[in-house]
Amino acid sequence: MLNKGQSEEELFTFLSRKRREDLDHDFILSSMCTIPHSVAVRAHCMFMETNLGDPGLFPGTYSIEQLLIRRFGALFHCPEAGGYATSGGTESNIQALRLAKVQKCGITSPNVIVPESAHFSFKKACDMLGLEIRSVPLRKDYRMDADGAAGLIDKNTIALVGIAGTTEYGMVDPIADLAKIAQQHELFFHVDAAFGGMVIPFLDRPVPFDFALPGVTTIAVDPHKMGMSTIPCGCLLTRDPTMLHTLNIDTPYLTVKQEYTLAGTRPGAPVAGALAVLDYLGAEGMKAVVAGCMKNTERIIAGMETLGYPRAATPDLNVATFVCPKELVPGPWRVSWTRKNHLRIVCMPHVHAGRVEAFLTDMQKNRTR
Ligand code: PLP
Repeated sequence: MLNKGQSEEELFTFLSRKRREDLDHDFILSSMCTIPHSVAVRAHCMFMETNLGDPGLFPGTYSIEQLLIRRFGALFHCPEAGGYATSGGTESNIQALRLAKVQKCGITSPNVIVPESAHFSFKKACDMLGLEIRSVPLRKDYRMDADGAAGLIDKNTIALVGIAGTTEYGMVDPIADLAKIAQQHELFFHVDAAFGGMVIPFLDRPVPFDFALPGVTTIAVDPHKMGMSTIPCGCLLTRDPTMLHTLNIDTPYLTVKQEYTLAGTRPGAPVAGALAVLDYLGAEGMKAVVAGCMKNTERIIAGMETLGYPRAATPDLNVATFVCPKELVPGPWRVSWTRKNHLRIVCMPHVHAGRVEAFLTDMQKNRTR
């Protein structure tokens, strides 16, 4: 700690310099986060000091969180769903498995069945909760093999997980088949739609992935990804509006007597930001954003294939992957690489048509060099 405080000017000169070290979004093609929508930023600033960890002090902010959950409940075909705003997909996935474990607390060696494509947050969750993780190999099309999942279920299985929008390849698992399997085995079925939850409902032909399927128990969706809110904002939705209360612990000195959230202090600002975007754009606005991202995904796939880099998969959502040598991607572009060494580009809202063309031009120059 500095002994004597700095001048504001000195401090902000330092902070500005540090901020300039961050990458420019213009070149970030690898992220599932994006530049927040201007209404999210405005709402965020209004709610900066609010703490949802002590909701009795901030009843207005708390009612915004409730509204956000209601919006997602309605979007996911269960208007009465319960839920709360998390810090993102990781927390939602941890809490979903925590809920599953509480439902089956008699099982001493519990296991959870996830696709090989599951986000690494499930490893964290299983590690923390003492759950065996059973990974189901993917089909050739990078979707979870539902029969393979059914074959791994035994008397110690407490939950099945499907992904609606995989992190690496943008695929939607066969959620309807998995939901049926979950029902047959009376299993808790969590759908990780952290990425896809704000894309699938706005596609021209949405695939079933939500509470419209009777077997779905919980859904994770992240406004701070395709919802263009400020960071951090995820949501965990439960079909049963009271299910989260099974996680309640006593909170002696707060304005509420019990809480089920993982974090204690929780920011209200990004939650206001998330609702602001949904209500500002409405379904029509979101459809336009998603249509743009899907169009850019198709364009980047066509452009890369013309350059001789074939797609690794035909994605359901706005994630494009290619067979392409690493050294052929020029700086300052930031792409990522999947576990199978495929080049991965996420066509988030900031990766607009102009950026796609600029990337393709640079790829072409690098190829002919
Ligand atoms: N689930 C999926 C499908 C994801 O793609 C991600 C992150 O990309 C997560 C969960 C984790 O989300 P977060 O980084 O917000 O915790």
